[in-house]
Amino acid sequence: MKKWGLALSLILLVGCHAFDSSNNAAIQTRSGSTSTNTQGQTNNTASSVAPTKPGTGTQNNTERIKIEEEQIFRGNLVLVNQQFPVHEVGVRQDIVKVNRHLDTYPGLALYDATIRMSLEVLGQYAAMVDAAGSDNVNHFMITSGYRDEEEQTALFEQQGDAYALPAGHSEHNLGMSLDIGSTLMEMEHAPEGKWLKEHAADYGFILRYPPNKFSVTGIRYEPWHFRYVGLPHSKIMKELNLTLEEYLDKLKDKKSLTVEVDGRSYDIRYVPVTGSATVELPEEHDYTISGNNSDGVIVTISLSQA
Ligand SMILES: [Zn+2]
Repeated sequence: MKKWGLALSLILLVGCHAFDSSNNAAIQTRSGSTSTNTQGQTNNTASSVAPTKPGTGTQNNTERIKIEEEQIFRGNLVLVNQQFPVHEVGVRQDIVKVNRHLDTYPGLALYDATIRMSLEVLGQYAAMVDAAGSDNVNHFMITSGYRDEEEQTALFEQQGDAYALPAGHSEHNLGMSLDIGSTLMEMEHAPEGKWLKEHAADYGFILRYPPNKFSVTGIRYEPWHFRYVGLPHSKIMKELNLTLEEYLDKLKDKKSLTVEVDGRSYDIRYVPVTGSATVELPEEHDYTISGNNSDGVIVTISLSQA
């Protein structure tokens, strides 16, 4: 564990409960209310209202949450690659044409008018680009966002399997990934690419196909492809140099991690789901639930009060 306590303010301990937050899907909350996100991940905000316990908990200050199998396939952390295709319920429900939102996010450069993505992810992207602008890095262009199956098939036939994936196996089919270019030069050398490599994790994005991870991801280095996974996961992955595959494996292996990111503590748990599963969560803490797209969910609990 000590080896995990790297530079940053990232501290990992083993053994606890916890969770994350972001968006999507539906799940029961402590007071019995259900919040379905635009995307399939379950978010819960601790309510100040005294929860009505269903009477199943045996400990004080915990609540029991039932997780349905469908939750495995949706949420910010779903893994999509050659092995695990996009599940129908995993596709973001808030996909929009970006050029219809330029009033809200003026100045965003788009490769063409067809670019689509999750509206929530667009908001995060805009905030990120705005921050880069403050550092005088401002020649970004979105070159690709959400792709439907037909578009993915055409691309796969055009580019081959070293840089593209067959329909249903590309993150672009989720609505949470985007290809970002620079209008100055190739991303690998552009200030935009260097800035994103350093700062994207602060906004919930990861460089999905980094160099030297081909053996893990099966995809060669793509300095332009970013995937939204949300905080705190993006920062943990960056700090520990883990791809999404490796991060999910690590969570599964450890079962539970307590992590401190930017002064906030999180309990991040892997919960296997077969048919359904039940998990005990501490009351009065926000949490999020995302599937891993194969056999379980990641429950992220914010231990710090905002
Ligand atoms: Zn891409």
